[in-house]
Order: sequence, then structure tokens, then C-alpha cells
Amino acid sequence: MPHSQFPHLLAPLDLGFTTLRNRVLMGSMHTGLEELGDWDRIATYYADRAKGGAALIVTGGMSPSPEGGVAASAAGLFSDQDIANHAIVTKRVHENGGRIAMQILHAGRYAYNPACVAPSAIKSPISPFVPKELDDAGIEKQIGDFVTAAKNAKKAGYDGIEVMGSEGYFINQFIVTHTNKRKDRWGGSYQNRIRLAVEVVRRCREAVGTDFIIIYRLSMIDLIPNGSTFEEVVELAQAIEKAGATIINTGIGWHEARVPTIATSVPRRAFSWVTKRLMGKVSIPIITSNRINTPDVAESVLAEGCADMVSMARPFLADAEFVKKAETGRANLIAPCIACNQACLDHTFGGKISTCLVNPRACYETELSLAPARGTKTIAIVGTGPAGLATAVAAAGLGHNVTLFDRAAEIGGQLNMAKVIPGKEEFRGLVEYYAAEIVDRGIELHLSTDVDVETLKPFDEIVIATGVTPRDPQIPGQDGANVLSYIDVLRNGAPVGKRVAIIGAGGIGFDVAEFLVQDGESPTVDLELWKREWGVGDPRITPGGLAADGPRPDAPARQVTLLQRKSTKLGKGLGKTTGWIHRAALKMKNVKMVGGVNYERIDDKGLHISFGEARENPTLIEVDNVVLCAGQISARGLADTLIAEGLTPHVIGGADVAAELDAKRAINQGVRLAATF
Ligand code: NAP
Ligand code: SF4
Repeated sequence: MPHSQFPHLLAPLDLGFTTLRNRVLMGSMHTGLEELGDWDRIATYYADRAKGGAALIVTGGMSPSPEGGVAASAAGLFSDQDIANHAIVTKRVHENGGRIAMQILHAGRYAYNPACVAPSAIKSPISPFVPKELDDAGIEKQIGDFVTAAKNAKKAGYDGIEVMGSEGYFINQFIVTHTNKRKDRWGGSYQNRIRLAVEVVRRCREAVGTDFIIIYRLSMIDLIPNGSTFEEVVELAQAIEKAGATIINTGIGWHEARVPTIATSVPRRAFSWVTKRLMGKVSIPIITSNRINTPDVAESVLAEGCADMVSMARPFLADAEFVKKAETGRANLIAPCIACNQACLDHTFGGKISTCLVNPRACYETELSLAPARGTKTIAIVGTGPAGLATAVAAAGLGHNVTLFDRAAEIGGQLNMAKVIPGKEEFRGLVEYYAAEIVDRGIELHLSTDVDVETLKPFDEIVIATGVTPRDPQIPGQDGANVLSYIDVLRNGAPVGKRVAIIGAGGIGFDVAEFLVQDGESPTVDLELWKREWGVGDPRITPGGLAADGPRPDAPARQVTLLQRKSTKLGKGLGKTTGWIHRAALKMKNVKMVGGVNYERIDDKGLHISFGEARENPTLIEVDNVVLCAGQISARGLADTLIAEGLTPHVIGGADVAAELDAKRAINQGVRLAATF
């Protein structure tokens, strides 16, 4: 029986020849595991998600051919050995009650490969290689490769395949005139441009027979100029159904689109309205996707008839037991995906194995074991920022008796500053999750407590996670009444004038800038406002769905200048896949970005700067307030006192190393420490 709280989400889905146990698809993610070749590790990663309740898992994209892989080294299912390896995964998923489909991903011109191929020889703005234009025989060869991959997937025990037809990859490149300039039977009219998509599905179906799932991932809104109109999307969906697909999944935006589609500042379920329009136009189930990260959101999407099924990808990195917890009335204990991309997509694009900021065990299940401890220890943890909280939850999960102390009146540390930034609302859910875990695991919590050495002495293990304090930039005049720290602004609600200079352009400088240019409702919690700001229109009106009049952001609430001493591009150290969004968001709000400066002094007129080693070009930035965001130093006082007393505390998070600290490193260090207790 579905849990009454989520009746739509937990209802089975009848596909005719088989029934899925609920409406949750774990969407495709490239983790890098397949390329590593440790098949026990890969199988454990997927099996844990099957055990956690996902009805159907879609693997990361597998290459149908060497030229079609996202890179020349991309994993595919080419040899008997590959098939045997993948069979290890499918067997383990089935043993744990799940189903698994293999995604076939042909990257086309997005392939990081000089041998890449496409409908026309047009380089993408996000790739260094001009693709080779395929001739008719070349296209037939690519279709044949899809079919071989589908047959091999069936041999390996997969329950189905997903044909990747969206996000601007190979098949999608045929569909729109933006990338398809052909004049033969694969180009020109819409029927010709969708021929590849239809033929791939038709011939795959022919090859695999009837009782095999074929999902087609269809780009419902391209978010590029000259993309598909919605009428074309409907026509394609109907042709794909006729060609033999079992399910249609939603793709949103091409990778080269200048509209964020999955970042944390994108409103939850921002694109379910697009999928909803297709409901009733085909008779096979439709899946919706993008920024659905809690059972509540997923349930409402289904209850409102936006789709038959919901795809969530990153939430399954954050918590493998997402569905199981929703089923058993423990939804508040689901570790939330905050859509930060820091440990998943940023890792993928940085050539590292994906994992998760809130769950460092993701993709490391076989290495980072949290098996119950051998004995029960008493553990004191000082500091309830991400490092302390992560250690506490993991240690208590191992069966230890954990006591948490914090000088502050609330848990969360720096997370409490992040959560007030427009576009970072998801951090609220992370703090709430930790609060729920503290109660559930019986962790003793002492807030507003300045803990002393005598209190800590009796514990078996002492963990110091006291975080950081702001660095003193020692600028003449910084004691003036017009100078504030980021803590004054973000935590203490200090009033800030209309003209502001921000000293320091790290993560916090950018955050403070976003906080100060925005007054009133954050676009992240107001979908129409967000769509207007980023220029998302209606694909029924403009092909591709970009607004005809472009982005129309509200005027900035303040005139902000963001500064740094380095002469490199501001925001260079921000996330690989999200830095451009922060820079674009501030540009839309006319934030001035100035690098290569010396801070000469602050007075009641504003901030005096000069440029370069010779301190040239003295300039006054006339502002009402200067906000210091000059980085941080470790708060190690208590740790040093304990060490002086002969104790051996574990020092983690910002208290250990402050430089370039973020919650990812803090949580990872905390969980790994707990695993040693
Ligand atoms: P940061 O990233 O280290 O940036 C510090 C900034 O201050 C830099 O722009 C630096 O640039 C400047 N600075 C350093 N020393 C200075 C000095 N003596 N005088 C003047 N300026 C100086 O530190 P942060 O901005 O505080 O960010 C780190 C924290 O932010 C962490 O707690 C993290 O959790 C959080 N955070 C991270 C992200 C993220 O995207 N990863 C986002 C938001 C918040 P110059 O040296 O060139 O002047
Ligand atoms: Fe979600 Fe961030 Fe974890 Fe990626 S790293 S799964 S975006 S919480």
C-alpha cells in the first residue's frame, strides 16, 4: 500500500508487459565509475539505490561508438567482456528489487574528441572540435551502433535502454535547424530532421523485441535560438510513440544554453509546466525532470497531472534511500540534494569521480564503510557547522553516544549565512535535515554553551569543529561606522546603504553581492520572476522557448562594486558548472567587478583604491558602506588549549584548514573521521 502521504509517488506504474513498483526514476548521471572498471564498486553503487526503492534506474550515458562517446575514452558496451561486466551490475540491481535501463548517449558535436561527427560541420560554443559532417552511410552506421548497443544491453541483463535525444546531443542536433543544415533526407523539413530519432527508436525496438523498456529522452524546451516549437515537440513525441518507445522522458535545455536548468538557484520543479503540456498528447507514460528533490515536490508534480513519473538524479547521490524513507514516514530524514553541483557535476567536468556534498559515501560505498562500530564510545563534538554535524550524524549512526556543543543558539554554523542568500534557499533544507537527524539519533545537543576543558575531558573522543573567523584585511579606516563584515550583513541584519563596495570576491563576496542586489522575493521561489530574469519564454511562441524580448531582470536593489587584489577574472574559483551563473546573475544586476586593486583606505566618502604594484591610478569608489569579505582564518583556540592540556582532539573543517574551505570538504572530513571511531 502506498504511504498515504505520497499516494501518487508510490503508486505502481503498469507498462503492459511489466509493472514498475513506484513512480520514481533515478535519472542518468555520469559518475566516472564505469571508466574506472571496478565493477563491484559500480554494482554496489547502483544496488544501494535499487535497495533504497528507486523503481527504475538509468545508468550514466554509454557510448554507442568510439566517435560518439562524450570523450574518446568514454565507456560503452562493445566487447563480450563489457557485457559480462555490466551483467554484474544488472544482477545486483535485480537482487535488490530494482530495474535498470542503460542510457545510450551519442554526443555528436559535444564529444571531446577530434573524430566527433554531427549532421553539419558546425562547432558548438562549448567544444573545441569542429565535427565531421556525416554522409548517408555514416548516419546509417551510427544508427546501427545504437541498435548494437541496445542488443548488448539486453544481453547484459538490462531491463531497457534510454535513448538520449535531448540536451543538445547527437540526435537533438539533427532535430533543429540551428545545427542541421542538411539538404538530404536527414535535413530540411521537420519530418526529415526527426528521421534519425524515429529510426533509432524503431530499429532498436525491432532488435530487442516487445518486452523491453525503451525510454526516449525528448528535448521539450531547447532554450537555444531556433530550437523546436512546441507543436514540433508534440509531433516528435507522437512519432516516437509510434516507433515503439515505452516511455518518454523530459530533457530541458541544451548544454550550450545560457539559462541555468538544474543549479540551486533554479526554482524547484521549474520545468514541470513544460512536460504537463505533453500530457494527453501521447498514450505512453511521460516522465518529468529537473529540480525535483523532495517527495513533497515530486508528489505535487504528479498530483497536478504534470507527468506519470518523476525523474530524480542527484537526489539519489545525496540519499540512496530516498524512496524507502518516503514510504516509511521518514521523509524528514532524507539527506537533501541542495543542487550545488559541487561534488557531482563539478567533479565530472573536472575529470574526478562524482560524489555528493551531503553524502561523501556516494560512489565510495565500497571504500567508505559506515558499518556499525565494534564498541560504543562517548564522543564530544564542538561546533555545529557542516563538519560537526556530519561527524555527529555519522558517529551516532555507528552506535556511538554523541554530544554536540555550540556557542551559538542554533545549529548550522556558516550554513545559516548561506541559506539567506537569494538562490541558496536549499541550504535551509540541509539545516532542517540535520536537526531531524539529531532528534532521530538521540544526539545530545547543548546550544548557547561555551564548553570548557573539564567538560570535554571525560569523553573517549573529542572533535573540534569550531570553524572560522573573518580575516582582518588591515585596511586603514576599516573601523569606521560605514564598514561592515559579511556577518553583520548576513547574520545580524545590519542596514546597508544604496551604494556598496565589497572587499573580496571569493564565495562569500559573491554571495553578499547577490544578497545586496536583491530586495523582496528571491526569483528562486517565484517561478514567473525567475523565468523573466533569465529570459525563459514559451516554446509555443518562440521556437526553443527563449523569450523574444530576452532576459528582463528587475533593477538592482543597490549599486554594488565587487573587488579583489588578484588581476585574474573575478569568480575564477567558483564551481566549474555554476560559476558562470553567479557571474551572469551579477552582471544582470550591473555589479561592477574590479580586479588588480590595492585597498588604500576607507573614509566617510568611500573606498580609496589604486592599481598594480606601482599603486597607480588612485580612485575613490564613492559608497555608503564597505563590506569586508576578505576570507577567513581557522578558529583553533579551544583545540590549542586542549592540546596544551595533553589531550588529543580531532580538529576538522575550517578549524583545521580555513583556506578555500567549503561545506563539501568539511562534511567529507567529518564523515571519514566518524568512520574511524
Ligand atoms: P575565499 O574564497 O578564500 O575568498 C577570500 C577573498 O578575499 C578573495 O577574493 C581574496 O582575493 C580576498 N582576500 C584574501 N585576503 C585578503 C586580504 N588580506 N585583504 C583583502 N582581501 C583579501 O573566502 P570566502 O569568500 O570567505 O569563501 C570561503 C567560505 O565561503 C567558505 O566558508 C565556504 O564554505 C563559503 N562559500 C563557498 C562557496 C563556493 O562556491 N564554494 C560559495 C559561498 C560561500 P584577493 O586575495 O585577490 O584580494
Ligand atoms: Fe546534489 Fe550537491 Fe550532492 Fe550534487 S553534490 S548531488 S548537487 S547535494
